[in-house]
Amino acid sequence: MKSVIKIMMISGVLAITAGCTKNENNNFKYLLDEFADLKVMRYTIPGWEELSLQQKEYAYHLAEAAKWGRDIHWDQNCKWNLPIRHVVENIIENYKGDRETKEFSQFIVYAKRLFFANGIHHHYAEDKFFPECSQEYFKSLMEAVGEGDKCARLLPVIYDPNTLQQRRSTSTDGDIVVLSAGNFYEGVTRAEVEKYYASIEDKTDETPIAYGLNTKVTKDDKGNIVEIPWKIDGMYGPAIAKICGELKLAAACAENDIQKRALGLLVKYYETGDLKVWDEFNIEWVKDTIGTVDFINGFIEDYNDPLGRKGAWEGYVNIKDHKASERSVILSANAQWFEDNSPVDPRFKKKECKGISAKVINAVCLAGDAYPSTPIGINLPNADWIRKMYGSKSVTIANITHAYDYAAQESPTSTLDEFAWDEAEKAFYREWGSWADEIHTDLHECLGHGSGQLLPGVSSTAMGEYASALEEARADLFGLYFTADPKMVELGIMPNKDAYKAEYANYIRNGLMVQFTRVELGRPNTEAHMQNRKLIAEWCYEKGAKDNVIEKKVRDGKTYFVVNDYVKLRALFAELLAEIQRIKSEGDYEAGKNLIENYAVNIDPALHKEVKQRYEALNLKPYGGFINPDIVPVEKDGKIVDYQVVYNDNYLQQQLDYGKKYGAL
Ligand SMILES: [Zn+2]
Repeated sequence: MKSVIKIMMISGVLAITAGCTKNENNNFKYLLDEFADLKVMRYTIPGWEELSLQQKEYAYHLAEAAKWGRDIHWDQNCKWNLPIRHVVENIIENYKGDRETKEFSQFIVYAKRLFFANGIHHHYAEDKFFPECSQEYFKSLMEAVGEGDKCARLLPVIYDPNTLQQRRSTSTDGDIVVLSAGNFYEGVTRAEVEKYYASIEDKTDETPIAYGLNTKVTKDDKGNIVEIPWKIDGMYGPAIAKICGELKLAAACAENDIQKRALGLLVKYYETGDLKVWDEFNIEWVKDTIGTVDFINGFIEDYNDPLGRKGAWEGYVNIKDHKASERSVILSANAQWFEDNSPVDPRFKKKECKGISAKVINAVCLAGDAYPSTPIGINLPNADWIRKMYGSKSVTIANITHAYDYAAQESPTSTLDEFAWDEAEKAFYREWGSWADEIHTDLHECLGHGSGQLLPGVSSTAMGEYASALEEARADLFGLYFTADPKMVELGIMPNKDAYKAEYANYIRNGLMVQFTRVELGRPNTEAHMQNRKLIAEWCYEKGAKDNVIEKKVRDGKTYFVVNDYVKLRALFAELLAEIQRIKSEGDYEAGKNLIENYAVNIDPALHKEVKQRYEALNLKPYGGFINPDIVPVEKDGKIVDYQVVYNDNYLQQQLDYGKKYGAL
């Protein structure tokens, strides 16, 4: 709490906390479980307590509606997923045999992977994964809980490497519809499906429906292609009925009439399966920019379908992070001050400068395709014509991003521990790092890209192939320079005058070393953002060498880069910002090219090799997912007086609970 209080005092009437929750949750454990190539985390919901009772009730019912769709997504991923999950649940809950054996723990790892992937295929790679325990052992578990009669049917699905290999087939010579294990098509070929849709699509329609989004395609007894709709009296009916029930309860306590209308349309769509109504819903949903609570509920993304039509069921409930959103509003409102005070030649400054406000949200409930693995940014709806005519919602999800960050810090191994020089540097980063990093990103996005101007007659394409890397460097430098400015503390955005140092040290470490873990050995550094970071870090290292601003140290054969002088480093950032702004404003292609070629591209082979080896030894889990907090109604005298957020810490238990509570299919 201490930091929050400190900020309140500094910012006075503004009372901004920079949207960061770290210091309010010092004892909150983010990383819960690690197995196979996965890690499971949890997230907090900042802002929940500021909601009114009605808003909480609204969010609660939306979250219930989201969780009721779980089984739909499992079945979409493969029609064998639900029968297998039911057996696995039965074993975990009722197996009376020895649970301390190696084989049982291997079975549990399989169960955890199954729950994580919402099925038998890897959530990202889409290949089938296998239990490490033997098939005989799995069979004995099934028999022990009275599921022996299902062995002949289910065990080959689980163990046979030659059936149902991929959820979405990536075959280049086979039929991707036939070969895909996903449950979007059955008994039909790719050619038949494509011919069918070609026959019903109206290509001249400028506002086309999303043909095939909410159906399974198969054949009737006469061999005709038919679509089985996913609606209240169709396929997935029992789950959809539950979803609709909760959506109606949500509508009754919506924040405004737009939400109410949107929910009415969504229910109508689930009842009719009519994709025109789905479009009407989306148009209404896009209009709601005033509410605090928002949601996603429906058949949304088509990545899982080999033909890119069928929507994976997804649920998502979130609340606007007013504090974090406010921060970008404040930066934007002060855009001219930053422009006037930036360290570039006055000729290259904008006389009138506007910033951009970004919207930030916090997740309240993840479900379906967004659970446990979940995005950190969302941009919907998907229909191009709706986006063009009515706009779209684009948001970043703050609490999920934070949770990733804090969980990484809790991991027994981390890039911070491996690449930071000493305990002081690590501790300082843990205290302020993700906060300062976020502020830097805000400055980069809200102000950096929009700052500066070209001299008259200079073309916006003058920097050619070096344009993106230089532009990212310009925005990054603008952010780096101002992250350290006393103005940031004065505005109540930066908590204290030293916090920026965490970002500076991290930026240099990353730019000179850590980011090369992502580049293949022997390859140059080619991605624009990575080039930008290397350019800045490398340039400052070289220019500051005579003053030892950044020092290269070696200990036990390991290389470190340590910032010795933060004030001088800031002055170097200012100098490079002025130079890159000059290059852009004057269209000095040669100078831009030289910067990139000399500082951004070539990685020292020995250092590259060392960094890759050190990173691999950390054995970090590449994929992450989350469990949800529970939202629990609090009753008093037969009336609900509050909805409390309860933070669970047991991944497997949440999966089993969901199976019991929301098992609709
Ligand atoms: Zn950028």
